[in-house]
Amino acid sequence: MGIHGLNSNQFAEMAKAALADEVQKGAIGKATDLIRDRRGEAVEQLDDWDDLRERARAIKAHTLAKLDHYLMHFVSNAEKRGVVVHWAEDADQACKIIADLIDEVCGDPNAPADSDDLLARPIVKAKSMVTEEIGLNHLLEGRGLRPVETDLGEWIQQLAGEPPSHIIVPAIHKTQQQIAELFAEQVGSDASASAEELTAIARRILRKEFADAAVGISGVNFAIAETGSFLVLENEGNIRLTTSLPQTHIAVMGIEKLLPRLSDLDVFLRLLPRSGTGQQLTTYQSIITGLTSKVHGELNGGGEGPAAVHVVMVDHGRSDILSDDLRRSSLQCIRCGACLNVCPVYKLIGGHAYGSVYPGPIGAVLTPQIAGVEEARPLPFASSLCGACKDVCPVKIDLPDLLLDLRKEAQEKGGSKIEKLGFGGWAWMMNGPWRYGLSIKLSRMIYPLGKRLSPFKKWGEGRELPIPAKKSFREQWKKRS
Ligand code: SF4
Repeated sequence: MGIHGLNSNQFAEMAKAALADEVQKGAIGKATDLIRDRRGEAVEQLDDWDDLRERARAIKAHTLAKLDHYLMHFVSNAEKRGVVVHWAEDADQACKIIADLIDEVCGDPNAPADSDDLLARPIVKAKSMVTEEIGLNHLLEGRGLRPVETDLGEWIQQLAGEPPSHIIVPAIHKTQQQIAELFAEQVGSDASASAEELTAIARRILRKEFADAAVGISGVNFAIAETGSFLVLENEGNIRLTTSLPQTHIAVMGIEKLLPRLSDLDVFLRLLPRSGTGQQLTTYQSIITGLTSKVHGELNGGGEGPAAVHVVMVDHGRSDILSDDLRRSSLQCIRCGACLNVCPVYKLIGGHAYGSVYPGPIGAVLTPQIAGVEEARPLPFASSLCGACKDVCPVKIDLPDLLLDLRKEAQEKGGSKIEKLGFGGWAWMMNGPWRYGLSIKLSRMIYPLGKRLSPFKKWGEGRELPIPAKKSFREQWKKRS
């Protein structure tokens, strides 16, 4: 899916279809409620939760303010330990770098004959939002390569030919029955298979892919400037296999993923699993620090793991976001997904209606900044501004404030003239007692008419317009005295 444009009509159509899908709404509601409750219990166990959030916010804000310094520090320390670092200005460049690295290992797809066997080998992928953002699978498939998602939810989505619909739980919108039917169709299993049987089937198929893979691609949860290390978190063990079995490991990260010190993980490891899945800690945490041969020496436990480790640092609009004092805070995001689980809009329309790899409140903030506000105009408006996202965000991003700022930009860059006129008139009416009184009188006259006029009719779909009182409070008050 990547980051693409989306106009108001497309968003309205997709949201309408999602609202009519009771099965999807049921699946998303059940799963998000469960994760939200688990998160609540996990947070309760800590008496310094707000203190942790503030520390995380401060660390992220400090790192972003000095990002150039920490990036250079990370690169120098990673390279000392045998990692090759690449810089990608945009999505195309990032995809090209990765594809060229794969060509080096598997052979150029344009080269004739003898590289066929290598080309048939899978490229195993661990869950990574940034590779979704740059549209990597699409490009690799176009070059005749076979990327295989190895996170169970991502694999389900790949079998279904759909992008993920949640940052942490990619197949959150599917029921177990739908997944069993999908497996039956795609891998020939029994359509009545249980959850355990489905997991065993996935495990059996993916084990073989791991064994055959020449290249493994992962994301990065946090990169540490002090040591040149990076951390990946998971529950399934697939990331360990992706990053250790193939001969080449390519880690792809947004440039905002940095933390200054290894000890900063103490804060983020308590925040991220609790916020994401309600766990105290994920099942596996892997800190990758260069090549084992380089770090330990060939004879001293080295020589295991991949022969080459590459890190691709992706900008893709992040430098522009960084230059804006208010919007910079959106780069503090640690992709925990907590804001999606409490968002009343996301819970009803699901992830795909946003038309972007980043759905929910953080998607409505990030997508217009990366793709351009004109390209994602409806997204900042896809919020009730209730503030639940701000309350749960572990790094204290003021998402409603950012949404309002993006709405302002969307209006300035070609918003609806009628809407502008309407709000201008409303502001004038509210700006003085007699004008306010006049607006109340007018609302009584306009109300029955408004319900019949076609522009208001459309606006009124799904909205309840309060019936104006026969006498306003002021009028009643005057009569009493
Ligand atoms: S904005 Fe906050 S709550 Fe939402 S995904 Fe990012 S870190 Fe999590």
